[in-house]
Amino acid sequence: MAKTYDVVVIGGGPAGYVAAIRCAQLGLETACVEQWTNFKGDPALGGTCLNVGCIPSKTLLESSEQYHHIKEGIASHGIRVEGLQLDLNQMMARKEDIVLQLTNGIGALFKANGVEWLQGHGKLLANRQVEITAQDGSTEVVSADHVIIATGSKPIEIGAAPVDNAEGFIVDSTGALDFREVPGTLGVIGAGVIGLELGSVWNRLGSKVIMLEAVEDFLALADQQIAREALRQFKKQGLDIRLGTRVTATQKTENGVLVSFKDKDSEQEVTVDKLLVSVGRRPNIDNVAAPEADLLLDERGCIYVDDKCETNLPGVYAIGDVVRGPMLAHKGSEEGIMVAENIAGQHGHLNYDAIPWVIYTNPEIAWVGKTEQALKTEGIPYKIGTFPFSANGRAKAMEAATGMIKLLAHAETDTLLGCHIIGPFASELVQEAVLAMEFHASSEDLARTIHGHPTLYEAMHEAALSVHGRALHKINT
Ligand code: FAD
Ligand code: NAD
Repeated sequence: MAKTYDVVVIGGGPAGYVAAIRCAQLGLETACVEQWTNFKGDPALGGTCLNVGCIPSKTLLESSEQYHHIKEGIASHGIRVEGLQLDLNQMMARKEDIVLQLTNGIGALFKANGVEWLQGHGKLLANRQVEITAQDGSTEVVSADHVIIATGSKPIEIGAAPVDNAEGFIVDSTGALDFREVPGTLGVIGAGVIGLELGSVWNRLGSKVIMLEAVEDFLALADQQIAREALRQFKKQGLDIRLGTRVTATQKTENGVLVSFKDKDSEQEVTVDKLLVSVGRRPNIDNVAAPEADLLLDERGCIYVDDKCETNLPGVYAIGDVVRGPMLAHKGSEEGIMVAENIAGQHGHLNYDAIPWVIYTNPEIAWVGKTEQALKTEGIPYKIGTFPFSANGRAKAMEAATGMIKLLAHAETDTLLGCHIIGPFASELVQEAVLAMEFHASSEDLARTIHGHPTLYEAMHEAALSVHGRALHKINT
């Protein structure tokens, strides 16, 4: 007889492992099936995010920013540094150490909460049975009252630039997080979130970075006023971003990779030492469900779910990157919590209108809610409040007084509809707007909230005052 659980989660990334822990906290007997093998060849929890995504990329962004700041930004503080050296091996070792600490930590959390880790590949069969294939090829079938599929996503591949991380010339994000020397020239196909973050890492460490982006609009999802400012800043930093450019072919040569591309005017070629392909990610549905399970996909190839993340099969749920919505770790985790609570008979829910986005470049870019272009398209009347960091004392002291905060509020009700930031610690600042939007706050509520001085948060206060033309530290127009 197959062993039976209350819940079996397939996938132990930020969506799946959080769902498993929350299920266990709620008293449900829970197992999590996970197949990942880490860089040491050991089984690992944490998925893309902890192993080859959010955590290693933010670790390298931090290290490279410190290096670059000491090299280029510290002299204006009256600090002179001589003999600065880059120890890339140590930088990579630190990254690996942090990844191991955090992924091992999830194992400890599983033990503490009583979640059973079933190592291997999980496949949904009919009637909420799950087949687990271990690395040695042996199989076991377990059954569950509820199954949560959280199998994540994979990089999209393009025919013109086939990725081979082992060879190390044309790579995806996993390869670009692990270069063992700084490429002289790094080509990047796709100037989206990964391209900009990893392009920034290697640009700061000394690479010449050339980014080939198919679309004419830079950061099309972001508020376009913020995107324009971002493009200006990144170009100033030396990122060579070419919009409206299509890569037609690549060829490995003695000197690296020859990239052929065309824009609207001409066909061109460039040789780069390494080429990063970062053109988006696709839901991972590879061998996740047997045909007899009858699991429905949507028109974009994601697992179809309703607003409570239930699939077409009763008792089977799907969460995280494998379903519709933004491919963000915190979105998947919150879906996991919602599903766990609903399975336990509670009233889990998720406000999809208040999911923050962050791009960890310098300056950082972060937003929540509607962009100005979306409000225009939807015909929603709005007011704008902005405040530049150049007029914020704390940002000046930090030598980081670039960018702005832009708030959008409903023209009639004053309810906050969106917050868009480019500037220092945008990743942290945006949370004030997320909280405000969760509470359906108005710009007036933010304007009447006391913000400490001197802080970056004062820029949020001033942007809220600016919605009604009464910012104190800028000339109101
Ligand atoms: P995943 O993290 O992909 O986890 C899925 C897990 O399921 C994997 O461990 C996989 O091994 C396992 N699995 C798959 N199929 C099976 C199977 N059949 N059986 C058993 N196990 C299976 N998001 C942010 O919010 N912030 C960031 O800063 C950020 N930075 C990123 C940087 C990079 C370079 C990348 C690539 C992504 C980044 N993301 C970031 C996106 C984030 O990593 C994903 O949104 C997040 O990991 C999705 O979580 P998930 O649990 O749905 O999927
Ligand atoms: P993306 O969707 O952010 O960017 C892909 C870019 O590639 C787009 O600008 C697109 O127009 C372009 N593109 C597509 N096909 C192309 C082609 N053939 N040639 C040239 N350009 C092309 O995707 P990504 O950067 O690969 O990241 C994948 C996802 O991972 C993100 O959408 C995000 O959800 C997640 N992520 C999040 C973070 C974060 O939260 N900080 C960081 C990294 C990744």
